[in-house]
Amino acid sequence: MPHRSTRRLFLNQAVLSAGAAIAAPALIGHAAFAASRWASDPFRLGVAAGAPTPDGFVLWTRLAPVPLSTDLQAPGGLSGPSIPEIAADEAMRHVVRRGTATADAAYAYSVHEEVRGLSPGRSYWYRFMAGDASSPMGRAITAPAPGASVDHLSFAFFSCSHYEHGYFSGYRHAAEETPDFAVFLGDYIYEYVEQKRPVVRHHSDGVECITLGQYRNRYAQYHTDPDLQRLHATTPSLVTWDDHEVQNDYADRWSQTFDDPAVFLARRAAAYQAFYEHMPVRPVFSKPHGAAMRLYDRYDFGDLLRINLIDGRQYRSREACYRQPKMGGHVETATSCPELLDPSRSMIGMEQEAWLFDGLARSPSRWNVIANDVMMARLKQRTPSGEMGSWTDDWNGYPASRARVLQHIADSKPANPVVITGDIHSFWANDLKADFDNPASPTLATELVGTSVSSPGPDYETFKTYLPDNPHIKFFESRKRGYVGVDLKPGLLTARYRALSDVTDPNATVETLAAFAIVDGNAGAVPA
Ligand code: FE
Ligand code: CA
Repeated sequence: MPHRSTRRLFLNQAVLSAGAAIAAPALIGHAAFAASRWASDPFRLGVAAGAPTPDGFVLWTRLAPVPLSTDLQAPGGLSGPSIPEIAADEAMRHVVRRGTATADAAYAYSVHEEVRGLSPGRSYWYRFMAGDASSPMGRAITAPAPGASVDHLSFAFFSCSHYEHGYFSGYRHAAEETPDFAVFLGDYIYEYVEQKRPVVRHHSDGVECITLGQYRNRYAQYHTDPDLQRLHATTPSLVTWDDHEVQNDYADRWSQTFDDPAVFLARRAAAYQAFYEHMPVRPVFSKPHGAAMRLYDRYDFGDLLRINLIDGRQYRSREACYRQPKMGGHVETATSCPELLDPSRSMIGMEQEAWLFDGLARSPSRWNVIANDVMMARLKQRTPSGEMGSWTDDWNGYPASRARVLQHIADSKPANPVVITGDIHSFWANDLKADFDNPASPTLATELVGTSVSSPGPDYETFKTYLPDNPHIKFFESRKRGYVGVDLKPGLLTARYRALSDVTDPNATVETLAAFAIVDGNAGAVPA
């Protein structure tokens, strides 16, 4: 039901005047704007909330009455305010805040409203109004007060939703669980168009994204998906990215296609801007400056959980043995590629490493999550010539950087470090060892890897043959699509590996394929 009448707006004003606390200017002063009539619903990309803190969150929408048009005049010149309204109840009877957000033409008429001054540790409901249109309603939460005793949290994490390869039923089923928040670990969109295998549905423009307009359209198409909209409207998000938000297997300014770094940075700037325009990220903190965009950040949930959300792409060293004709990740050994072991190379950049170490060492929380794009556990896999080697695009391609992270964990002893990971389109449960060559060495942290929402997994039989050489890997399954649901209590983390019946079925069902527990004080996942 896209359109709401001006009468509805009038009723909202009546509700406000009936006693709600109003902290920001209401519709008064925007009468001309409020009277604007849209030719079609401007809220077809839905709404989202993100970045929850104890006193607020970010609310997102984008005015896009013609979602897949590159003509940004399409909003009909309505570049003025879009008014978010925040209520303390699901029926939106008790409106506690009404803002005046700007839908900025320079950012594709997206809205990022940073709301502050709310109460900690509770749900709020919100919607936007612009002219005669009102958005769908969304739910957000505020994080618990700093240091507050928290006895339970739930979240779900996701990665790798390739629109062409299936439906986003994982998003729908996760929404039905109403987690406190969702974590997106990257490959939220795919920049390319599948050419090699049959697809379920198409990227509408049929082109690989290079320009800002193309990336915008890609995000807009994803945001028209009803399951994606439902998840965003149900729960706030923490978002980081992986490679496909820009290009497969890129590292900082180095593309897998060996582009001139200056040319590639222009593409990265376009991709980062489109990401910003379509995600509920903080407006000042994360607004891109050219090809630079600050995404990595920390989120605290009382005394129970700290999430260190890291950026594994923007600052990483060039992939080891980056040379033609190999494109992107490949398997190398220390003999074939001595550069792999160079200690000056970093997965996340030395500055972010220092930031991460500080966040772990000073954490007040019982559980310390590192939300991360690519696999951290050592995974020996076979080279084309039959030796066991390392994949250059994940942490196996940056072993010195991984060793620094694990050594820091061993030294600073943050409580219950847990790495959550995407990228590899398969479920894993991994012990992160002090010495991966010695199975008897201490397990310092636990890695939970979620499968893809829809992207095809790696060959199951091939990867199974790697497991005997990787005894710290406790679980592997690449034949299922889905997500991971996490329930967290002070003494116990439980992770449910949720698998879809059929990603090509828009009505797919879901079941728990496996469940793992991590007991407070005991790194390593055990069957739950
Ligand atoms: Fe992926
Ligand atoms: Ca990836």
